[in-house]
Amino acid sequence: MYTGTSASPGIALGKALIYEHEELVIEKKEINSIEEENNRFDKALEISKKELQEVKEKALKELGEEKAQIFEAHLMVLDDPELINSTKSKIKSENLNAEFAFKGVINQFIGIFEAMDNEYMKERAADIKDVSGRVLRHILGKTVVDLAGLEEEVIIIAPDLTPSDTATMNKEKVLGFLTDIGGRTSHSAIMARSLEVPAIVGLKDITKKVENGDFVVFNGDTGEVMVNPDTETKEKYQSLKDNYDNMKKDLKELIGKESISADGRKVELAGNIGTPNDIEGLENNDAEGVGLYRTEFIYMNRDKLPTEDEQFESYKEVLEAMNPNPVVIRTLDIGGDKNLPYLEFEKEMNPFLGYRAIRLCLDKKDIFITQLRALMRASKYGKLRIMFPMISSLEELLEAKEVLEGVKSDLDAENIEYDKDVEVGIMIEIPAAAIMSDILAKHVDFFSIGTNDLIQYTTAVDRMNEKIHHLYSFFHPGVLRLIKMTIDNGHKEGIWVGMCGEMAGDRKIIPILLGMGLDEFSMSPISILPARKLIRSLKYEEAKRIAHTVVTMGKSEDIEKYMSEVLD
Ligand code: PEP
Ligand code: MG
Repeated sequence: MYTGTSASPGIALGKALIYEHEELVIEKKEINSIEEENNRFDKALEISKKELQEVKEKALKELGEEKAQIFEAHLMVLDDPELINSTKSKIKSENLNAEFAFKGVINQFIGIFEAMDNEYMKERAADIKDVSGRVLRHILGKTVVDLAGLEEEVIIIAPDLTPSDTATMNKEKVLGFLTDIGGRTSHSAIMARSLEVPAIVGLKDITKKVENGDFVVFNGDTGEVMVNPDTETKEKYQSLKDNYDNMKKDLKELIGKESISADGRKVELAGNIGTPNDIEGLENNDAEGVGLYRTEFIYMNRDKLPTEDEQFESYKEVLEAMNPNPVVIRTLDIGGDKNLPYLEFEKEMNPFLGYRAIRLCLDKKDIFITQLRALMRASKYGKLRIMFPMISSLEELLEAKEVLEGVKSDLDAENIEYDKDVEVGIMIEIPAAAIMSDILAKHVDFFSIGTNDLIQYTTAVDRMNEKIHHLYSFFHPGVLRLIKMTIDNGHKEGIWVGMCGEMAGDRKIIPILLGMGLDEFSMSPISILPARKLIRSLKYEEAKRIAHTVVTMGKSEDIEKYMSEVLD
């Protein structure tokens, strides 16, 4: 048995599919005949084209025209006579093996396109890189796993999954994920919860322990994985899965009920989403709003920035679907573990402490303004709340607000309608912001505490690093104190305070947050009904006492133990 960090609840049983972005080794080799190399090359092109054609058709059906266009661009590269002829003449004139000749030509092409001072040409370089990887794999006879085109149900086993992997995969066919790296708040874990598929992360070397086609069973709640288990174990997991599915059905009885404590303290239970596709999850789990719309996914899986109109459509879709419930839309939070290939970030020593989120938006104001315009235009279709991420100082907040005011004046001048009462808030995810939340509260309509980052910055524990994952704790007294301070400071200024970090949906933390007076809890939609069930069983007065007790305790471990006892 292998054990990792539980990332998304549920039980999975099924066939393993190993998914690795493997580095290809392209070597110069002796060849038998030029004809043989030409054939290897032609065959690889043919298979790649056939695959891309299928992926394109699937993307068109399931993801829309825009995403399908990416694959159309890839197909065009494969038909480029320049690329094909240059490779073949290199094979012939220099007696080269197909992969080495092709790689040489590709590098030349990429070099030329990247050097051009033209966005369109730079994008072509990205397409060529992407497609050439597929062709090279086929020349070398390596299998290319296409997550968008999965044909049968599988459990995906990967070193890590990027947000773009999870966004393009065929969700119907994925029974669960297992990854080598990552923690509970890494984005692969968050995506697994939003897809409502069971997942375990931080299994260290599971990709080495499992082979394609092995039968795997795992429990997303306990973090336990078994490979090729005996019949008895399989049956045990099948019955656990049946119980889990039944429990999920029972929770559905809470749909339409209020999120209110047994003694009358009402809170808002909202959902975290990444794309308009997640609306279904919000509806199925009866979310009372959206507490965090991570807009960066609109910017991913594409080869250029989304236009104002494209963004407007996504925001409008969510606002309309949730209306009259509120939707907190967070402005672009890129950087850290989320990159945009077309923005060409420089490599940084500490990306989580680097050029990301509001820092990038205030530096590249055109990107920021486009997003704010799209947001304000969409505001008349529902109840929008705008939120700035990664605020670390009053200066940043004031500057961001000034840009927003500029956008409003422009829209006024253009006679474009928008909601004049849009609330503006910030994430409290940097300790400096929590510490000075008394001052920041005077300038915003709400706070939303981003504990995923607040924990990593407060305790200096990288949220992605499984080696030190035992140090990353929801129960750290330093973090709990900062949360209390933020809630108290917000309330003193009369603003509401929410939380959109993963802690907000944790069973052992919810009583503490309720007792501290948190107004809004935003979580993966899958956690909403269990949270409602718990809150309805708690008394606010008792929760206040619990919150008071934990902030006087010194050890995370003791707080966690105390909370387990409270809930028993
Ligand atoms: C957070 O940091 O708690 C948060 C919600 O933002 P993200 O996980 O996207 O960094
Ligand atoms: Mg964050």
